[in-house]
Amino acid sequence: MAKITLDNLAHSYLPNPTREDDYALKELNHDWADGEAYALLGSSGCGKSTLLNIISGLLHPSQGRILFNDRDVTMEPTTQRNIAQVFQFPVVYDTMTVRDNLAFPLRNRGADPAYIKDRVQQIAQMIGMEEMLNRKARGLTADAKQKISLGRGMVREDVNALLFDEPLTVIDPHMKWELRTQLKSLHHEFGHTMIYVTHDQTEALTFADKVVVMYDGRVVQIGTPQQLFETPEHTFVGYFIGSPGMNVLDAQVTGDQAVVAGTQISLGKGFGTPKGKVEIGVRPEFTALAAGDVGLPVTIKRVEDVGRHKIVRADFHGTEINVIAAEGEGISPDMNRIVFDTAGVNVYSDSWRVAPMGA
Ligand code: ADP
Ligand code: MG
Repeated sequence: MAKITLDNLAHSYLPNPTREDDYALKELNHDWADGEAYALLGSSGCGKSTLLNIISGLLHPSQGRILFNDRDVTMEPTTQRNIAQVFQFPVVYDTMTVRDNLAFPLRNRGADPAYIKDRVQQIAQMIGMEEMLNRKARGLTADAKQKISLGRGMVREDVNALLFDEPLTVIDPHMKWELRTQLKSLHHEFGHTMIYVTHDQTEALTFADKVVVMYDGRVVQIGTPQQLFETPEHTFVGYFIGSPGMNVLDAQVTGDQAVVAGTQISLGKGFGTPKGKVEIGVRPEFTALAAGDVGLPVTIKRVEDVGRHKIVRADFHGTEINVIAAEGEGISPDMNRIVFDTAGVNVYSDSWRVAPMGA
């Protein structure tokens, strides 16, 4: 197991990158703690696979270094890095049996046959393939083959890190949950450093201790699910995580007051005078409907009952504001204002969060 250090790392697929836009991965400095489970979350094309492949050695970065436990591995090939990687689509040996596929990484390392036998049995149980151990991989469904790939990724206990690149894409939905749970228990049992790439926030939030959110080639925040929820460091994090995401509104901010399209609201904390494009962000969970003359004037467009609560879609000068209301809460026609719980208001300057004064 290893701590992974990304030192001044950046990558461009172009031979002579000049502008920042030429980089698929913008400059990055991070320590990823030994034994922690990370999810790498972001929309398609934001650079997740690029970063993962640099860590595994499939790709050499155009700039910077990768260290495993402070040892520079930047120029080392994948085989010397002692990691296991599972990809989006199955990589299995068709002519081998399921058993031999699972045993392969262990045999390759010269493990003891008795140990191999036990370990393969254990892994087969985890991926639910005990009954198929003697079958050839050829002819199995894509779903089954991907489970073999996952099993092969998990079979070695002595790896520096386990890397997963959207591994459950071809797995059917009910098995997804099952396998994710298995991966989590594997992490608890062996304490491997794990990096799990996904574009699905639910997958990321349920799997990981820490979620690394990427946007446009940049890591915009590394945090616990709670930190991503309460203090999104970038408006993208607020918008991407949550259902629905954070409400973001243009504002002028001075001290502890904001003016949003002519309406003044109190922020509860001081923010000085933020520069650039200033916005406030408030999650629907910290937003409520009210009747009267306090708050932002809105028109209710739609109320969606999603079971546990209601989502109210309101219009504020052409911008949608979402409110989460309790299941039993009555919504009356005279509710024409939106008020914020100041505990949940964040201020942004050029999309980055401004820390409140005294914080
Ligand atoms: P993700 O895994 O988050 O979907 P990728 O890391 O695959 O994103 O891609 C990041 C960016 O780099 C994208 O704009 C993609 O088109 C580009 N890219 C990825 N692989 C290559 C490649 N082999 N050659 C050139 N451009 C690439
Ligand atoms: Mg990818």
